[in-house]
Amino acid sequence: MHKEHEGQLVHQLLIFDRIHDKSHPFFTFAVMTDIILKKKISNRVLNGHPWIFANEINESGAQVESGEIADVYTHDKKFIGKGYTNPRSQIFVRLLTRDRNEEINDDFFYRRLLRAWQYRKQLGYDENCRLIFGEADDLPQLIIDKFNDYFVVQTLALGIDIWKPSIVSALNKIFDPKGIYERNDVPVRELEGLDQRKGFLSEAFDTEIIIHENGLQFYVDVEKGQKTGYFLDQQDNRRAIQNIVKGADVLGAFTYTGSFEIHAAHYGAKSVLGLDISENAVAQANKNAALNKYENVCRFEYANAFDVLKTWAREHKQYDVVMLDPPSFTKSRATIQKAITGYKEINLRGMKLVKPGGFLVTSSCTNLVTAQVFLEIIEMAAKDARRRIRQVVFNTQSADHPIIWNLENTHYLKFLIVQVM
Ligand code: SAH
Repeated sequence: MHKEHEGQLVHQLLIFDRIHDKSHPFFTFAVMTDIILKKKISNRVLNGHPWIFANEINESGAQVESGEIADVYTHDKKFIGKGYTNPRSQIFVRLLTRDRNEEINDDFFYRRLLRAWQYRKQLGYDENCRLIFGEADDLPQLIIDKFNDYFVVQTLALGIDIWKPSIVSALNKIFDPKGIYERNDVPVRELEGLDQRKGFLSEAFDTEIIIHENGLQFYVDVEKGQKTGYFLDQQDNRRAIQNIVKGADVLGAFTYTGSFEIHAAHYGAKSVLGLDISENAVAQANKNAALNKYENVCRFEYANAFDVLKTWAREHKQYDVVMLDPPSFTKSRATIQKAITGYKEINLRGMKLVKPGGFLVTSSCTNLVTAQVFLEIIEMAAKDARRRIRQVVFNTQSADHPIIWNLENTHYLKFLIVQVM
């Protein structure tokens, strides 16, 4: 038999093997369903948005099995795209391609990963990057972070989780990695009917790895660290503090493993104090300071930033630069007002600690607080602190997390430097 056909046969047998278990998502491979949208749908999908909600589908959706790849059509049978389904989720279909002739198979994932890697390399990310940023790379709910020769994978929806073997095989083919780790210990998976888990998708390896960034080194603990172990989304912004920290006394709150603070030392700060509420993060930050030989400049301490910043403002402590990078204060629209209050409070407290003419470096990482709203929050904080501010830098996440306009969850990070007069 011709080699190619032989391969196909093996693949079919594999699928056949799997479909003996009718509960297995691959069962549905044999019975591809067409999904027809209702007549009245928003133009969102036609304009490029990859999600189709359950209430946008006619009765054709009733036949669909979880995880199945389906063809999606308008009510008058115009092909829209192919995507994976989950009848248990509000988001019924997430589109993978708008090309009718593109099959979803191992090769599809290989091509998508290769394309994503070429884009990152073109932009200069040759060591570390978010290799796959979900929807922005046409692979909904898939996250892959590359930490030099190691990869951390998150599959956050059922329909993409099924393809984990193809994704791992594509990574092996393109990168020949030293290790691949799964960080699916994420609550959002439960909405999809998936368990939370983490572990190796390759041979076991030492999960504390060292990466290089802007001439510095950082430990990244891909097993126990937060999210995938390291916040790559701020990697471009860490360079933005270069000129404002020379000779400065710097305070950093929400420091995690000290990445901004160690950059401050590297760029010539006189003293740096970093605070975090996680003991583990503080220990890692001190280790990172030592790794870069800045233990005499940088100190990291356990603290609740909300309490400490308030006390220190009352005591009239002053710094040349204050840096804030809090976690997302909300995951849902319902609690957005609380989040806005939180951001305002912490920025007000931070601003009070800045010497006249010094700088506040501040971020927000929830897409629910838009760039516009974030600037309004900072304006309110300045008003309450009775300080005048000047905008110095206003950025978003680094370019390895590309933004798709009208896909609001791809535009999430706000990074602002203001001078506090
Ligand atoms: N700037 C970091 C990322 C910060 S992530 C970087 O670039 O790597 C947010 C951090 O805030 C987490 O490490 C978390 O432990 C910490 N945190 C959350 N609530 C806090 C609080 N009330 N006080 C101090 N730190 C807090």
